[in-house]
Amino acid sequence: MANVNESTVSGEVSGTGVVAGIAYAPVVWVRPRPELPEAGNPLRDDEREPEMERFLAAVETVAERLQHRADNAQDQAAEVLKATVGMVRDRGWQKTVRKNITTGQRAEYAVVGATDRFVSMFESAGGLMAERTTDLRDIRDRVIAELRGEEEPGLPDARQPSILFADDLAPADTAGLDPEKFVAIVTEVGGPTSHTAIIARQLGVPCIVAVGKELHDIPAGEKVLVDGAAGTIARNVDESEALKSVEESRRQQERIAGWQGPAQTSDGHRVQLLANVADPKAATAAAKSQAEGVGLYRTELSFLSSTSEPSVDEQAELYGRVFDAFGTSKVVVRTLDAGSDKPIAYATLASEENPALGVRGLRIALGNEGLMTRQLDAIAQAAQARPEGSQTWVMAPMVATADEAEWFAGLCRERGLVPGAMIEVPAAALMADTVMPSLDFVSIGTNDLTQYAMAADRLSPQLAYLTDPWQPAVLKLIELTCQGGQRHDVPVGVCGEAAADPLLACVLTGLGVNSLSAASNAVAGVGAQLAEVTLDQCREMAAAAVGSRSAAEAKAAARAVLGD
Ligand code: PEP
Ligand code: MG
Repeated sequence: MANVNESTVSGEVSGTGVVAGIAYAPVVWVRPRPELPEAGNPLRDDEREPEMERFLAAVETVAERLQHRADNAQDQAAEVLKATVGMVRDRGWQKTVRKNITTGQRAEYAVVGATDRFVSMFESAGGLMAERTTDLRDIRDRVIAELRGEEEPGLPDARQPSILFADDLAPADTAGLDPEKFVAIVTEVGGPTSHTAIIARQLGVPCIVAVGKELHDIPAGEKVLVDGAAGTIARNVDESEALKSVEESRRQQERIAGWQGPAQTSDGHRVQLLANVADPKAATAAAKSQAEGVGLYRTELSFLSSTSEPSVDEQAELYGRVFDAFGTSKVVVRTLDAGSDKPIAYATLASEENPALGVRGLRIALGNEGLMTRQLDAIAQAAQARPEGSQTWVMAPMVATADEAEWFAGLCRERGLVPGAMIEVPAAALMADTVMPSLDFVSIGTNDLTQYAMAADRLSPQLAYLTDPWQPAVLKLIELTCQGGQRHDVPVGVCGEAAADPLLACVLTGLGVNSLSAASNAVAGVGAQLAEVTLDQCREMAAAAVGSRSAAEAKAAARAVLGD
């Protein structure tokens, strides 16, 4: 595995590495956000109408610029930019700005006030809505810059391959980002599941998040060596050593591109690699990867904007299209994980003090059994249409007790479905011996398991150091689950973001995990890494990581076993 040679480094800052790979290039900083305006003197009556027009003209220019970028972008980037255009043109937001101008505020200040109002509304809604506050602040800044005749904030023009530094990246910044120009991304805040991390993963660009304030010590133009696996940004590096590391990393990327499944360690221990999918389109893309099937089909993601429950037939048709992409291969369908960061109008409770600890996932169905049984009917209907010998497994999210597991398993078995549960509540891992007997498999959701074990919101950019699946406490819960799986002969998978990390994949294998499910573009990286280690090395890495006192030590201890 490519790695930075420590002896060449005389200054280093570090953060949470979220996409592996090494890059060496000069730094460019995202163009700064404009200073926010003060209230100033109120406008005279006769100045208010022209001010309104000035605001509308600025909004139109910003929207057209983003629209132009959307027209030239593709797939998800185009969607993100279109969504941002929609926010700039949002009637509710514009109306609030206009109302503020009517009271005598200057347009710049009126924009700040209106945005603050929407930000606090979104924040109190929590979950995915709260994540959209970055977009809101982004359009605020673009409109203010336009009103002042300043350069639009955001991505700079990079004349040569550069490393992009930012406090955080707004979706409109990352959409359409050219990986030839920006060879690595480093941000002050953000976590492994932040927007920046997701986009960097899709682009295959090395990425480090949550570096903290020290990042600002590194000025634009300085050449740095970024190691996305180690999470380090090395300064004052010997140029020839740096270029050697980049070359080694490039060869590693080639090995990954040429890797062929099915996955096994160098001494032949099989690990099933599967893909996480959200809909038929993602399933079709995943089927072209080396994934052997689907380890997590997040059904709720198709219904985030549905206002009423889709009928059994409608659901069956949708699920059937995901199944079609995988022939007879294993597809693990997760029942509706509504609530918290994935609110669904027809399923989620209107307001809860603490939605992450509230009625979410399987808990919704305990009070509304029809929601669960209709979904299981739809899955069974779609499964029956699959070719003979197809493997359709079904699991429930947020299982916390043996009774919940037993109840769910009963409903599945009545319909001829293979029942399992996600292990993402620490109680379920601790009580593996009581939860497992009624189930045919379990899959560990490390995103939520980490959130609940560390009592740290998985979406919080400030808490990324805690919401790290390398935390030894999380690894211990995984170890307990695997030991339970062995005692009860129940296969244990992992389907959280942890399964996308090649080094952590070795640790998970060493702990006894049988299958790993990740974004389909992460599968080859994991497979190529597993091919380079023995099962004994995986076990040694696991023991070293579990016995560490922090996430950083656990990672370093695992790397040390490989001689890195
Ligand atoms: C998890 O919690 O790790 C998981 C896979 O589920 P989600 O990310 O959809 O909550
Ligand atoms: Mg989860």
